[in-house]
Amino acid sequence: MDLKNYIATIPDFPQAGILFRDITPLMADGEAFAYACNELIDFARQVGAEVVVGPESRGFIFGCPVSSELKIGFVPVRKPGKLPRETVSLKYDLEYGSNELHMHADSIKKGQKVLIIDDLLATGGTVDATIKLVEAMGGEVVGCAFLIELTGLKGREALKGYNVKSLMSYE
Ligand code: 5GP
Repeated sequence: MDLKNYIATIPDFPQAGILFRDITPLMADGEAFAYACNELIDFARQVGAEVVVGPESRGFIFGCPVSSELKIGFVPVRKPGKLPRETVSLKYDLEYGSNELHMHADSIKKGQKVLIIDDLLATGGTVDATIKLVEAMGGEVVGCAFLIELTGLKGREALKGYNVKSLMSYE
């Protein structure tokens, strides 16, 4: 299945000069959504993931089906002020603007094999911050999986040494 048929490209969103890749048509098509999730599930099995970590909010959409299918946990990465208990946090740069990521401080066990799932890899800032949080808690990042990789932004270079999987790439 050519998943690119289910991605809409929106110029100048959320601001001028950004070519936004919209995944909602893929989510809205049951066959395409299941196909994409199955590809991620195969990768999760390959790398021996014991828990899935997903950044807010589109990482939840693709991370949770993988967790559920493999009967492994899902741990959310959230913006400030959303998680109710003690957190570990890190400031990070986005393709547009900057933000801060939080995870519950007890969410990853020492030595646990972690697969990070998000919808899109751009500069790699989000996943890099997520890796640092997971590793600070003693987790082992066994893979990073994305629906889409924007190769021109060289996010993969920020992920040297990690097992990176993307289902589609755009320049
Ligand atoms: P990075 O931190 O790699 O620069 O940016 C990736 C993060 O920004 C992801 O969490 C992703 O959801 C969001 N993002 C950046 N650009 C796009 C885009 O064109 N489409 C979508 N769906 N998400 C984007």
